[in-house]
Amino acid sequence: MRLSGFDERSTIRSAAAFAEGETELDCPFCNHGSSVECRIDMKNLIGEATCRICQENFSTTITALSEPIDIYSEWIDECERVNNLEDEATEA
Ligand SMILES: [Zn+2]
Repeated sequence: MRLSGFDERSTIRSAAAFAEGETELDCPFCNHGSSVECRIDMKNLIGEATCRICQENFSTTITALSEPIDIYSEWIDECERVNNLEDEATEA
């Protein structure tokens, strides 16, 4: 076992994020667990979430501070917003 230097902190942090399943999340469309993968494009500041089961995908602009879970949350919010709109349309 090697001693951890400062440089390894970020590696440890992202490994922990993977362990927590932050980049593999439940799909709001097909409800498969751990089927959504989030990708962050820091160069273009675009975050993308894609379901590998049903191929649904969502992309949004991000900031340098954005995490995969933020993209996922935005996707869920967007889904809920669309669902609410549909509900209202049905009720009207
Ligand atoms: Zn899906």
